[in-house]
Amino acid sequence: MAPGYVTGHEALGVVHEVGSQVKKFKQGDRVIAPFLTSCDVCFHCQRGVHGRCKLGRNFGNPTLDGSQAQYFKCPLADTSLYHIPAEGSLGELAIMMTDIFPTGYNAAKRAFIDTPSDQWQDMTIAVIGCGPVALCSIIAAREYKPARIFAIDSLPNRLQTAKNLGCIPLNFKELDVAAEIMKATDNNGVHAVVEGVGLSPALKTAYDIICPGGKISSFGVHNGEIPFSAGDCYNKNINIQFGRCPIRAVWDEALASLVRNKATIEDMNFVDLVLPALDESYADALARFERGELNKVVFKPNGPDA
Ligand SMILES: [Zn+2]
Repeated sequence: MAPGYVTGHEALGVVHEVGSQVKKFKQGDRVIAPFLTSCDVCFHCQRGVHGRCKLGRNFGNPTLDGSQAQYFKCPLADTSLYHIPAEGSLGELAIMMTDIFPTGYNAAKRAFIDTPSDQWQDMTIAVIGCGPVALCSIIAAREYKPARIFAIDSLPNRLQTAKNLGCIPLNFKELDVAAEIMKATDNNGVHAVVEGVGLSPALKTAYDIICPGGKISSFGVHNGEIPFSAGDCYNKNINIQFGRCPIRAVWDEALASLVRNKATIEDMNFVDLVLPALDESYADALARFERGELNKVVFKPNGPDA
């Protein structure tokens, strides 16, 4: 990263002006702008891999200014924006549809989808990292009604939240997590792991606790090496799936899941800080978020009533 562009990639807004090719939106529409633009017609989009759209760009990087601003521009608007849904009266929770809920939902879905549905109730899964997206993944995973969900982190507040959601919390700074899980699963390991840390040691833990034939569903943004070999994968017959959420492909089902879980999310106070302006409190909010003290911060750059 270098200075000179606008950050932010999760926004709700009101359409101020439309380009000549925009058909589905008009001035005044209230919209959700997820993290990524996509064309919906390229080779990748046509196969549901919208996260790798040939024309796709993430908001908030040198190629496309982000949305922590009073105004921002959305290319490919017809296939990148969504109207704020009427169903569910989501209110401020609609912000969760911009990234974290569909991403968490998709990671949970990948953990279960390869297993016949009549076996979901017997599955044990583990979620590594209990940050905001992982908590969304836990909320979505609960709907598959697995037998157990282990939640792994080191921050007591996050582990408590996971416990409140019915997970078995494991603090990796206090326990040998892999040994605990192997002991609790008759040395079989878990059927699936949702990995949301994005660091190689977390992937190593995933490998250590996955059962033969199991699935590692990773949504973490990785920039390191895979800490095990192709031979290790062969020796456990494991399946691994990485990558950016194809948000357009899972939009409807993720939204339905969010609506079903609205009360749970409200009870958690998931949106735990709202800033009525982009002012000096912004830096403090980012620092608190980085320390893991906050799940979801909402900025209101156009003022508290916007
Ligand atoms: Zn595309």
